[in-house]
Amino acid sequence: MSELLIEGGTVVTADRMGPGDVFVRDGCIAAVGPDVRTAAGRDARVIDASGHWVMPGGIDTHTHLRHPIDRLGITTADDFYTGTVAGACGGVTTIVDFSLQRRGESLLHARDRRLAEIEPDAVIDYSFHTIVTDVRDDVLAEMPVMIDDGFPSFKVYMTYGDKIVNDAGLLRMLEITGEHGGLVYVHCENDCAVNHLIERHLAAGKTGPAYHAPSRPPAVEAEATHRAIMLAGLAGSPLCIAHVTSSGAARHVADARERGKPVAAETCPQYLVLDDSVYDPDGGFEVAKFVCSPPMRAAEHREVLWEALAEGSIQQVSSDHAPFHYENQKTTGRDNFTRIPNGLPGIETRLPLVFTGGVTAGRLSPQRFVEVTATNPARIFGMYPRKGTLEVGADADLIVVDPDAEVEIDAARMHSAVDYNPYQGLRVRGFPTWTLSRGEMIVERGEPMPPRGRGRLARRGRIDPAALP
Ligand SMILES: [Zn+2]
Repeated sequence: MSELLIEGGTVVTADRMGPGDVFVRDGCIAAVGPDVRTAAGRDARVIDASGHWVMPGGIDTHTHLRHPIDRLGITTADDFYTGTVAGACGGVTTIVDFSLQRRGESLLHARDRRLAEIEPDAVIDYSFHTIVTDVRDDVLAEMPVMIDDGFPSFKVYMTYGDKIVNDAGLLRMLEITGEHGGLVYVHCENDCAVNHLIERHLAAGKTGPAYHAPSRPPAVEAEATHRAIMLAGLAGSPLCIAHVTSSGAARHVADARERGKPVAAETCPQYLVLDDSVYDPDGGFEVAKFVCSPPMRAAEHREVLWEALAEGSIQQVSSDHAPFHYENQKTTGRDNFTRIPNGLPGIETRLPLVFTGGVTAGRLSPQRFVEVTATNPARIFGMYPRKGTLEVGADADLIVVDPDAEVEIDAARMHSAVDYNPYQGLRVRGFPTWTLSRGEMIVERGEPMPPRGRGRLARRGRIDPAALP
């Protein structure tokens, strides 16, 4: 029996904040409160958390580790070891990554292939959404099997060449998730409009990385977001919108929720912290470091997203961690922006960026910070209350953070394998002093120490549309 007592800190959960100790036994939360010391045996390890906040570990439900981009013949820069170590250093204790169904492949085969890639390397607990790219009758019939097996969420791309699912396919998937307790998680951009705008830019000789953003303007996101919400309504099914970046899309989500529809939404730190000034046409090819889809927006969208996050119409922040090296990966698109791999690193900096822009800047309460980074991701994707909370019986996944300690982000000191950081030089608060996963210390004073492969599969439950935050 292993015991651990985290003493003298301020305990912060989605609904409470106050002084308290946390007692951990055999990997689970055994007690939280003012007098839990008496429950601990003499051999219990004690961590002095005075001056610190003790919070549920972050849950990142949108990461792309060891993710292949077949069209370009490359794979994201982090595997499940470097990516989850980076996550742990940034306070993440659970990820939900992706299993990519290849054309012709069965979902169960894709699942087994993916598990074999994750198991030997992950240092924190994990699950994945299944990216469905080939909507056939036999594939649809596998969806309830995946849900029963603890993988209730399915990612759909409304754009992206070989991965695209058309409206009929999306509707058929929604009918199945609605009936069987699953959830469709959708990337919303109007594919026809994007392809048209790309062709127009390329034909005009506008091939540099700065033209990525104007080829995917806010209207293509808002239109597809509205369409996905309407199709989910038609099927009577819940829906989760990936990476909301703009006021129009945020408005469609808020309207649907006001009508009582079970629609959840996430945004990402890059859309809360950066804006479209990163796409300076005079910025040279380095602009490619910020090429992601959807792209960063004009500055006025940022405040709309923060407000939506504070008042509840956006319920969670994920990273969309999709790291590509600048050298030899981003540079693939030197002569044509459509060949720049889309994505930025973010698993390690997500909590600090939301903490700094949210809690330190006074936009989010500490409780709301916990809710959008841990509790709601667990609720939306079927992991609550085993994850995302400090209730008795939950997994002891937690972080201990000095709310006043400031760190300057520097790519050289980050743990991701990628060769740059989009927030280089930014000063942030919210990096954990300690990260614990199932009661085991995996990061101590910024130093990672978890053995490779210690992470476990977190099988997830059915999604209850009525229980969505
Ligand atoms: Zn993504």
